[in-house]
Amino acid sequence: MHDDGANLSLAVIASSSAGNASVLRVRDAEGRARYVAIDAGLSPRRTFAAYAELGVPQDQLEGVLLTHLDGDHWHSGWLGAMPRSARLHLHARHLGRAERVGATYLPTSLLAGEAGTGAGQACGHACGHARGEFELMAGVRVRWVLGDHDDHGSVAYRIEHACGASVGYLTDAGRTTPEHAKLLAGVGVLAIESNYCPRMQVESDRPQFLKDRVMGGFGHLSNEQSARLVRAVSPRDCVVLLHLSEQCNTPALALQHHAHGVPVHVCGRHHGTGWLAASSYAGGAAPEVVISMPSRQGMLFG
Ligand SMILES: [Zn+2]
Repeated sequence: MHDDGANLSLAVIASSSAGNASVLRVRDAEGRARYVAIDAGLSPRRTFAAYAELGVPQDQLEGVLLTHLDGDHWHSGWLGAMPRSARLHLHARHLGRAERVGATYLPTSLLAGEAGTGAGQACGHACGHARGEFELMAGVRVRWVLGDHDDHGSVAYRIEHACGASVGYLTDAGRTTPEHAKLLAGVGVLAIESNYCPRMQVESDRPQFLKDRVMGGFGHLSNEQSARLVRAVSPRDCVVLLHLSEQCNTPALALQHHAHGVPVHVCGRHHGTGWLAASSYAGGAAPEVVISMPSRQGMLFG
């Protein structure tokens, strides 16, 4: 697939409870394309096959932004298989899990600080990752928020190129928060989970504990919750729907909620996006977006 020359592009390779993997292509100040993954939940073999199609040289992968370390976001096959050029970026709360699954044989930078809901202790790591923001490479900043998901949360990212192009990535969020809305306001390409239809979830033959986990504020976003956040942040280029439940959702149902006036892509177990370019802004920073935050969070973001 050809390089379109954009400064910042996202390609989702696949997204479902069977595995989540995406890759960013970033053009640096010298015009060179550089590559950073978001999550590594597919096998190395499958990921590298997708990289070949996307034109990503696997030995040039520079990093992996991890949302969290569940098995559908970090595939055990990566133990020893990640290109040595790659640095892991993960939240301090996920370090124990990362050590247990052996991911920390790679250079690792920890996110920690006050930013986001339920953020962990600030780490003593001199990596500049504290307080919700760090420089991924010259001219590319990453902001992040830790949201609620199971015991240790899941990190949402906003990757921002100096030209104003931006990509947002939010998945496995038990609930959306004003911090998520602020992080993602006016983003260019927004990849966001739209996991389940509440009616299908309730009527499914899943055990009650699983329904409670998914819907209880520490699991996943419903189509409605996801669509409300998308409306609040008003993405400029396109929306990519991630992590649809194969049992409790359908692409058609999710799309019914997601009519936003920009293209909407739906990903699945075997279905990615190809490269999606984020628009640049000639003046540098993107125009300011005013988000009207709900006065009662429970009503709009429940
Ligand atoms: Zn997941």
